[in-house]
Amino acid sequence: MCYNCVRSFGGVTLIHRKRYIGSLGRDCTPKNEGGMGFKDLHLFNLAMLAKQGWMILKNPTSLIAQIYKALYFPEGSFWDAELRQQPSFPWRSIVEAHSVLQVGTRWMVELIDHETTAWNDRLIDELFSPSEALLIKSIPISSHLPRDKVAWHPHKRGIFTTNSAYYVARDIAYNRVNYPPPVDEFQTLWKTIWKAEVPKKVAVGVWRACQNILPTRETLLTKGYEGETGCLLCDCPLESVGHVLVDCQIARALLGEVSLQITCPVTPVFIFKEWMLECVNRVSLEQFEKFMMFLWALWTNRNAALWEEKPRLPADIAIATVGWFNQYKLVHASSIPGVKVIQRWTSPAKRVLKCNIDGSYSYHQRKGGVGCVLRDHKGDFRAALMKMVHNANSAFQVELLALKTAVQFAISLHHEQVQFESDCLQLVQTINAEDEDASICGHVVDEVRAMFSNYPMFSLTHVKCQANNVSHNLACAALHSELSHSWFLYAPC
Ligand SMILES: [Zn+2]
Repeated sequence: MCYNCVRSFGGVTLIHRKRYIGSLGRDCTPKNEGGMGFKDLHLFNLAMLAKQGWMILKNPTSLIAQIYKALYFPEGSFWDAELRQQPSFPWRSIVEAHSVLQVGTRWMVELIDHETTAWNDRLIDELFSPSEALLIKSIPISSHLPRDKVAWHPHKRGIFTTNSAYYVARDIAYNRVNYPPPVDEFQTLWKTIWKAEVPKKVAVGVWRACQNILPTRETLLTKGYEGETGCLLCDCPLESVGHVLVDCQIARALLGEVSLQITCPVTPVFIFKEWMLECVNRVSLEQFEKFMMFLWALWTNRNAALWEEKPRLPADIAIATVGWFNQYKLVHASSIPGVKVIQRWTSPAKRVLKCNIDGSYSYHQRKGGVGCVLRDHKGDFRAALMKMVHNANSAFQVELLALKTAVQFAISLHHEQVQFESDCLQLVQTINAEDEDASICGHVVDEVRAMFSNYPMFSLTHVKCQANNVSHNLACAALHSELSHSWFLYAPC
């Protein structure tokens, strides 16, 4: 539900929702940025129109593209097209979505030095601003020097989707078009809340608490409430989110009853989400899930006090909540609480080598490290490599370069039967997919796929992180030490 559709259902609904849920701009923000992920209809419409424009850009020889070209841009390109006199309704709509396409489209232009198969640094520095030049140089180049092509930047694999165009339209509408996107320091918190295996109402409740939009008496004061302001359960003069869920004596007593690695802060909590972020970083996911259940229980207990005047004792709340949590886990989780299935490294078939690969990326330093280790069917060490990557612009790019490096390493050692293993699911799906990869990494994807087709006994499979820790450690070491090194016969220690 977005601003437009709420408005079309009448002002009463709008006021009602605003009061209890909060700003609708925030609700239209994606979940991992702290919103509810609702769609704004106007922007969604713009994204659908951008799709029409994309079809023209991508397939310039199609009949429809040629008709539009003849009518509206016979000499220039799609980008210079103007409305002209009496434009048709579809064309007028497509031009309206021009801005979305302009932001999202990237041409894989020929700024490559064909002799060295590297970026032409001098030309790039001349043509672009320093920050743009840095971004361009961080795009990986294939040694095959492919043709120019158009890529849809916001999608991981360069494929145009209405969903990704919607977020471009939204960034334009909110004046937030800047690449790379700003880092939200609370992203870990939002991700953990939505990923937690707890009832939906608990996740939504905790999210609202973090956004400070639970209807506590303090929040209601800002909406014109004029009644009592004190806590319903103790004699604190102001009932805030931080008070109900952390500082209130009931909350402190509850945390004392349960064995969580979370202790109440000594000073009162002013900004609840900051304290929650600290908790996320301190405890395991399962501990945090349990903690979310306790927060929800505290809130329902507070509501019971408000409506039925029957608050429960902290010990009772603790027992009931732990029981509820365990039952929920039993029904929904694949494993019983406390018993986790850990995937370990498994040996490949006889005569096949297994090559575990990993990439490690630093967003702030824009660089990465790659690592790979080759072992045989007895689990014996055969070779390993670590290498630093300069000018990297995403974690995926580093994972991809890790694979490329590992494949080249295996080929240089004359191994022909190798099972490559990565813990990056996106990488495994991208390489194993049949369709074209039009992202800025597409050239390297094509190059790796070509190497795989030259070596039919090469394969790439996905593995959990726990079974990939040797290559992970090598990648981290490469990133932090800025060293490149390879080992044969004796394993690095
Ligand atoms: Zn209280």
